Amino acid sequence: MTFNTKDLQQTNSAHHMQPFTDNKALADKGARIITRADGCYIWDSEGNKILDGMAGLWCMNVGYGRDEIADAAAQQMRELPYYNTFFQTTHPPVIELSKKIASLAPDHVNQVFFTGSGSDANDTVLRMVRHYWSSLGKKSKKGIISRKNAYHGSTVAGASLGGMKGMHEQGDLPIPHITYINQPYWYGEGGDLDPEQFGLQRAQELEAEIDRLGEENVAAFIAEPVQGAGGVIIPPASYWPEIQRICDARNILLIADEVICGFGRTGSWFGSDTFNIKPDFMPIAKGLSSGYLPIGGVMLSDRVSKVLLEEGGEFNHGYTYSGHPAACAAALKNLEIIERENLVERVRDDIGPYMQKRWQELAQHPIVGEARMIGLMGAIELSPDKANRAPFKVKEGTVGFICREFCFENNLVMRHVGDTMIISPPLVISHAEVDELIEKATRCLDLTWQRINEAGYCE
Ligand SMILES: *Cc1c(COP(=O)(O)O)cnc(C)c1O
Repeated sequence: MTFNTKDLQQTNSAHHMQPFTDNKALADKGARIITRADGCYIWDSEGNKILDGMAGLWCMNVGYGRDEIADAAAQQMRELPYYNTFFQTTHPPVIELSKKIASLAPDHVNQVFFTGSGSDANDTVLRMVRHYWSSLGKKSKKGIISRKNAYHGSTVAGASLGGMKGMHEQGDLPIPHITYINQPYWYGEGGDLDPEQFGLQRAQELEAEIDRLGEENVAAFIAEPVQGAGGVIIPPASYWPEIQRICDARNILLIADEVICGFGRTGSWFGSDTFNIKPDFMPIAKGLSSGYLPIGGVMLSDRVSKVLLEEGGEFNHGYTYSGHPAACAAALKNLEIIERENLVERVRDDIGPYMQKRWQELAQHPIVGEARMIGLMGAIELSPDKANRAPFKVKEGTVGFICREFCFENNLVMRHVGDTMIISPPLVISHAEVDELIEKATRCLDLTWQRINEAGYCE
C-alpha cells in the first residue's frame, strides 16, 4: 500500500489535535505517519522500517502482529460485542479475565475493578481509598501523598496524583488534599550521598509528610514501583522496604501504580513482586492487553476489598466500558501468550540480563553519565562531565531533544525526558534486535556528541 505523506499530514493537522503535542509546531513540521507494524518494528508512510524501542507507549509487551489476539477479539465481537457490567449483569470474558488476573497477582490480591485506561484506574483508586476510610468511619483520612515527577495519567485525578509541574499548570491542578514528597532519583538529586543512604532519606520523607499532615488526615501513598515517564527512575534498594515499613506503621494504604511495571516489564509479573512490596491497590493497564485494545483496572488486596464489600455498600462509580468483552478477550489471549512463551522468565533470566549488559556498555560513551536498566526498562543520563553527574550548560532537555531527533532520523524509537534517554522495548525483542538497538543508540550518541561539540554545549 502506498500513502501520500504530505496529504495525510495536512489533513491530520487540519482536524486532529494530538495529545502531549505542540500542534502548531507539528503542523509546520508534519507528523510521522505510522502505517503498519510487526514484531518489534513499525513502518512509516515513507516506507522506513523503525525499531520500536518504546514498545508503543510502554505497552506492546508481546510485540506487534499477533493474529491470535486479533482473532480472539473478532470472535468475541461476533458473539457478544458489548454488554455492561453494571446493574447485576456480567459476562464470560470478564469473569475469566478477573480469575486470571487474580491468579497472577500477589497472593493477597484477589479482586479487580475494570476501567478503560490507566488514567481511569487512578481516578478509580482515588475514590476507592477515600471510600474505604469513610466506610470505616474515618472521613478525615482523605489526603493522598504522591511524589514530584510521578506520572499517574492525564485525567483530572490522574494528573493531580502525578507530580508533573507542566501538567498541574494547565487546568488548575492539583485537586485538593494531594501532596508530594521528593523522588528517589539518586543520579539527579543524590548529591554526595551514597545511593542507599539517599534512598532511605527519600523514603523517610513519607513519614515526615504524614507527621506534617497528621496521620488522621492521610489515606494513602501512591507510587510507581519504577517511575516510567519521569525518566525510568529505579529506586535504590533501601527505598521500598522503608516505604513499606512506614505505610504499615502509620496505617496508610499503599497504592503501587503498576501500569508500566505490570505484566513482565521488570522481570516479574508485577513491579511489586520485584521489589517485594505488599500494596493495597494496584492500578494496571498497558501490558494487560499489550495495547491491542484499551483496558485497565484496579487490583485490590483482600484487606481493602473485604471492607469495601462488607462495609462499603454500593460504590457509585463505573465506566460504560468497564470490562468490555472484546478488550477482555484480547487481554486474556495476551496473558496466555505471555505465559506460553515464558516472557516474564525470559525478561528475568535471558533477554533482560543480556540487554542490561549491552546497555551498560553505553556508560563508556563520553556524553553518558549513567546507564541503568531493570528488566527491560532503562535510561541513559546525558552529561558533559560524568565524574560530577553535571548537567549541560544549556537549557535542560536541549541535548536530550537533539539525541531524540537523531534517533528519529536513524529509525530508532527512543524517548527523551529532559536530558535522559529512555527505552522500554517489547518483551519479545531478540538478541540480534538488542544488538541493533545498541548499535543505533551508539551512533545517535556519537552524532549528538558531535553536534553539541560544534554548538559549544560541552564547555
Ligand atoms: C501510562 C500511565 C498511566 C496512564 O495510563 P493511560 O492508559 O495512558 O491513561 C498511569 N500510570 C502510569 C504509571 C503510566 O505509565
